[in-house]
Amino acid sequence: MRTRLVVVLGAVCCLIAAGGEEISQRAKKLHFSSIVVDTHDDTTQRLFSKDYDFGKRNTEGHVDIPRMREGGMNAIFFSIWIDGRIVGPQAVQKALDQIDAVHENVKKYSKDIEFARTAADVRRVHAQGKIAALMGVEGGHMIGNDIRVLRIFGDLGVRYMTLTHFYNDEWADSSTDKPAHNGLTDFGKEIVREMNRQAIMVDISHVSDKTFYDALEVSKAPLIASHSSCRALCNHVRDMSDDMIKALAAKGGVIQINYEKSFIDQAYKDASDRETGGVMKSVGDLTKACNDDEACIGREMAKAEKKLTDDGKLPHVSWERIIDHIDHAVKLVGADHVGLGSDFDGASMPEGMEDCSKLTKITDALLRKGYSESDVKKILGENTLRVMEQVERVSREMQAQ
Ligand SMILES: [Zn+2]
Repeated sequence: MRTRLVVVLGAVCCLIAAGGEEISQRAKKLHFSSIVVDTHDDTTQRLFSKDYDFGKRNTEGHVDIPRMREGGMNAIFFSIWIDGRIVGPQAVQKALDQIDAVHENVKKYSKDIEFARTAADVRRVHAQGKIAALMGVEGGHMIGNDIRVLRIFGDLGVRYMTLTHFYNDEWADSSTDKPAHNGLTDFGKEIVREMNRQAIMVDISHVSDKTFYDALEVSKAPLIASHSSCRALCNHVRDMSDDMIKALAAKGGVIQINYEKSFIDQAYKDASDRETGGVMKSVGDLTKACNDDEACIGREMAKAEKKLTDDGKLPHVSWERIIDHIDHAVKLVGADHVGLGSDFDGASMPEGMEDCSKLTKITDALLRKGYSESDVKKILGENTLRVMEQVERVSREMQAQ
């Protein structure tokens, strides 16, 4: 009788687990003892909204301190982002506004979060039970073509820069614009070398394939793709081909998987292209309509998508597609070169990954797939920290010369 009861209970447990809601004790223990780094969150723009409080649980958006605690996300790269069509001194000014907003919010909630400039800082902050705050500048246009601004960004704590956003800048081609420079210009190459000197990670998400290969050749340190997925599973120019992932890994870099539905699911991408002209067009249109207010862009995009999904024009996408992309990259180049770059607050999330409170599901799913605990820890954050340490070492060597 007792055996039978156990068998029945076992079946119930596994049915719940198959639905993806029940997280195993082993997964919880591993997840909450790990440093979980997310390399791309567009939460920064929300810090300017009067309806948003980073320290409280919000009904909108994907990230705030309570939900980070719930999902065990304990290191966040705040993305400094403005539309790529804003250039020159105005772009620098707007980037500085956002950098200041990150610092001010980190100070305001200093009981929970602390600023981190190095991998050692992240480990120290984590050991104190706090969240580590880092920053990445999403688009080289924000340095206003002035290499001194790049250095100042570094001094203010910026730890990566995405070479372009949706549009080419004056020294690098974007994956979503017409090629203008055949990759990186000579000045673009100089910028990559200066990033190496300043311990600012070179981020190749958003750039054209040629820019990626140019940056890979020039950089003395490993690169990251702060928020890109696998083109073999979803043929989108924002994702990386297998050859690119292999080249990135061969130089010690990490692909941080993006959760955006149109980057992870081919059927969704095709339907989205058909219905809205694709994610770039809809973001571009909404950016104009919302006057660059990212919270408004997110809200309007979610509304439009919900309607299209309810009308059956866009397919449902499960969070498990994220796991497929992680697994594809791991099978291709090994667990040392894969991480998490959600694009929370800047993208539309698949069902089951509504916000950062759901992150334990990833750990649970990887363990269920048979991943070792040490491989899961690497994917959750250790790989990013390793790249940061390598980038810091290269910087020290270059500074000493
Ligand atoms: Zn992006």
